[in-house]
Amino acid sequence: MFSGKTEELLRQLRRASVGGRSVLLIRPLIDTRTSAEIAESRSGAQYACTSVAGAGEIAAAVVASPCEMVAIDEAEMFGPELTEIANGLANDGYEVIISGLDTDFAGRPFGAMPELLALADSVAKLTAICTFPGCGEPATRTQRLVNNLPAAIDDPLIVIGGTEDRREPDRYEARCRAHHRVAPARHAAASAGVVGLRSVPIEVGEEARSA
Ligand SMILES: [Zn+2]
Repeated sequence: MFSGKTEELLRQLRRASVGGRSVLLIRPLIDTRTSAEIAESRSGAQYACTSVAGAGEIAAAVVASPCEMVAIDEAEMFGPELTEIANGLANDGYEVIISGLDTDFAGRPFGAMPELLALADSVAKLTAICTFPGCGEPATRTQRLVNNLPAAIDDPLIVIGGTEDRREPDRYEARCRAHHRVAPARHAAASAGVVGLRSVPIEVGEEARSA
């Protein structure tokens, strides 16, 4: 989040479009923060853009809008079935570009992203800048704040906009590993098995650190 990954995706689409390649941009329908018109007006380039309710609709969208390149934004919002679908498109000769968050608000691998990262021919890992006061280090984590306090480990995975109990909408901030906070489970039973997640060491490439 805040790393410019959607901008990077759109940059790649512009390059492909300028080069005369046909492009289809696919977004999850759940993501209502951006619209197709924004993607097109920023770039000035023309390419098809469609929103789908689930990964199962991607194949039909590609058939309906023939293209050489398939770009998928906010890929973490799709379920694990995206892996097989994206891999299948690549095997069928499409160039597939996928943008997504690799970890969720609790620092856990997000949806199909771990498998997609493993299967990708190339990976660009972008980082934002940690917004914790006085830090400024590369941010590899997404901090979710609920009423200005860190979200709990058992909070829902995806929250967009307001919530049913009419509290303040959750906020998201870019944070480095040292300043990423996850609150203990709100419901005792849910904490089993996930408490130790934050202590698992994860190698971050030198490219990501210096970006
Ligand atoms: Zn920091």
